[in-house]
Amino acid sequence: MAQPAMAKTGEAQDRPIEQPKLSVEQLCVSYENGATGEWTEAIRNVSLDIRSGEFVTIVGLSGCGKSTFLSAVAGLVRPTSGAIRLNGVPVTGPGPERAVVFQKSSLLPWRTVLKNITYGLELNGVGKAESLRRARQVVDLVRLKGFEHYYPSALSGGMQQRVNLARALVCEPELLLLDEPFAALDAITREVMQNELLSLWEQTKKTVLMVTHQIDEAVLLSDRVVVFSARPAQVLEEIRIPLPRPRTPETKHNARFDELMNRIWNLIHTTAAKKEESEYEI
Ligand code: ADP
Repeated sequence: MAQPAMAKTGEAQDRPIEQPKLSVEQLCVSYENGATGEWTEAIRNVSLDIRSGEFVTIVGLSGCGKSTFLSAVAGLVRPTSGAIRLNGVPVTGPGPERAVVFQKSSLLPWRTVLKNITYGLELNGVGKAESLRRARQVVDLVRLKGFEHYYPSALSGGMQQRVNLARALVCEPELLLLDEPFAALDAITREVMQNELLSLWEQTKKTVLMVTHQIDEAVLLSDRVVVFSARPAQVLEEIRIPLPRPRTPETKHNARFDELMNRIWNLIHTTAAKKEESEYEI
C-alpha cells in the first residue's frame, strides 16, 4: 500500500499530511443563457479544501453563487474550469458518495416515510431486506420512529425535511451537501432542526458542506465558515469557528458567538455595498 506523504522536516515534525476529503481547486463556473447567448459568471477561481469530519458552511449574498458551487461539487453543474476531487478522485458527475439535501423536501407522495427512505437504495440495486435495515437505522437517527408508515402529506414541514435528511444519510455518503436545508421552515422549526442536525453530526461525524444565508445558523453549526463575495463568487475570507463542541442552543449565548456573527455580517455587507457602488458606476 502507498505510504502517506510526510510533511517537510521542520515544517510540521514528520507528521503524515492528511489528504483532504474534498478538494476544490481554482473552480470557475459560468452559465450560458440559451435565449440571448450571454454568459453569467457565477464562480471565479474558488479553491477550498475540507477535511474528513469537518462541517464547513458557505455564506454570502443571495445570487452570489453559493448553490452553484454546491451543485458543482454534487456533479450537477459542469465547471467551466478548475478541479473538484473527493478523496483524490475527480468528480465528473453525480454519485451516491455525495448526497444532497435541498430546501424543498421533494418526497414521493405515494410512498410512506420508510419507502421514501429506501427509494434511493432500491435504485442503486441494494436488496429489500438490507434497504429496510438501513432505513430503520436512520429513522432512529432523525427521530422519526413511529412515523415510518405515514405518507408525506401527513407530516409537518420539519418532519418532511427529516425524511429528506434520512434519504441522504441512508446512502452512507462520504460527503453530505446541504443547500439551505431549513430555509423553507418557520423560525421555531428551523431552530429545532438546527439542533437536530447538531446532534446528528455529533453521532455520525459526517463531512458536511452546507450553504445558507443565515449567519447564526452558519456559526452555530460549523467548524469553518467561508464567506463568498458578491457574484462572481470569490472567497472573501475563511473564518474558523472555535466554539466548543458539543454545541447546544446555549452556544448562542457564548460571548464569542456575537463576535463571530458580526465579523461575518460586516464582510457580507461590505461586499453588498461594493456591489451597489459598481452597479451605480454603470
Ligand atoms: P445563490 O445560491 O448564492 O443564491 P446561485 O448559485 O443560485 O446563487 O446563482 C448564482 C448566479 O448564477 C445568479 O446570477 C443566477 O441567476 C445564476 N444562475 C444560477 N443557475 C443558473 C442556470 N441554471 N442558468 C443560468 N444562470 C444561472
